[in-house]
Amino acid sequence: MTTTVHKIAVLPGDGIGPEVVDATLMVLDAAQKTGLVHLEYLKGDAGFDSIKKFGTNLPEKTVEMMKRTSACLKGPMTTPEEPGTPRSAAVTMRSLFNLYANVRPARTLPNVTALNPGIDLIVVRENTEGLYSGKEFEVTPGVGVAMKIITRAASERIAKFALELAMKRRKKLAFVHKANILKITDGIFKQSVLDVAKDYPDVELEDLHIDAAAMQLIRRPESFDVMVTMNLYGDILSDEAAAAVGGLGVAAGANIGETYGMFEPVHGSAPKYTGQNKVNPVATIEAGRMMLDYLGESKAANLVEKATTSVLKEGKVLTYDLGGKARTSDVGKAIAEKVVSLK
Ligand code: NAD
Repeated sequence: MTTTVHKIAVLPGDGIGPEVVDATLMVLDAAQKTGLVHLEYLKGDAGFDSIKKFGTNLPEKTVEMMKRTSACLKGPMTTPEEPGTPRSAAVTMRSLFNLYANVRPARTLPNVTALNPGIDLIVVRENTEGLYSGKEFEVTPGVGVAMKIITRAASERIAKFALELAMKRRKKLAFVHKANILKITDGIFKQSVLDVAKDYPDVELEDLHIDAAAMQLIRRPESFDVMVTMNLYGDILSDEAAAAVGGLGVAAGANIGETYGMFEPVHGSAPKYTGQNKVNPVATIEAGRMMLDYLGESKAANLVEKATTSVLKEGKVLTYDLGGKARTSDVGKAIAEKVVSLK
């Protein structure tokens, strides 16, 4: 039995967001029924619908509410593409809360077609700098320059995060860069990882260039444990890793900072499926599981993981993307019931 009550911000988002978040709350409620965890949900507005209502996709009131919580479960949100419209709410949250580590697990699940039956890896992506600095110039018409900013401080911080994670797992870390070409920026990243790794002699290191890493992730995905890299390489590698284990319906990501964590499915708001109760909620349920783990509620997190795996393995309640006919809410209910029965 646990007595700590964790305050959680719940942002259902738009499009299919509210449906996948509702299914996830069914599972989290079931975890609460077991007595392993206590959560208090604070629901907030954010996303596309908030733009019309509040003139922004992340209202101040929501940010203030988030500050009173320990973590956030975030549904997908539509980002309009027209010039002058707000930038992605997720990107704003990452900078507001300094969520410097993007953590994307990819593991083989039953009844989900993967490249290899034994994939169990995590891509750790530096979330605050690199080519996402937003500093781009057109020097003269037709000549553009983007600034890739890499600092030793941010590189050491992400290296430490990845090494700590590797210590809790199979103690293997692949660090990914292109220091043979970008000798200064990627060179700083590479050297920072090597320096911090001296404090972790038990972790086996693998030094990989980004092009080789992209290939090896297809050729031998089962050989990887934790992979750490810079912002843009991490963006690409983590989507590749999600594809290696069966795609968007099951992939989740965490954005972690010193004092806050935000958890979301990797997929977007899939507007064409809105309100159809059709899409796969497993990615968001997996985001919920990662949130429990972050909160230190590993028993509850393990139970949710076991329940999800068990429902997928039985293969009776699967959504269309996994070859089934079940509805979003059916999957949420089946996993929630399994959580209670497995306790
Ligand atoms: P998307 O991920 O929303 O959907 C692409 C396709 O993937 C869907 O049409 C569907 O076939 C499939 N898919 C997605 N989620 C699924 C699920 N849970 N179950 C089964 N199938 C699923 O990508 P998009 O169409 O490129 O983007 C739509 C909107 O979402 C855009 O506005 C984009 O900016 C936004 N987006 C938001 C986030 C976020 O909030 N973090 C992430 C990605 C995209």
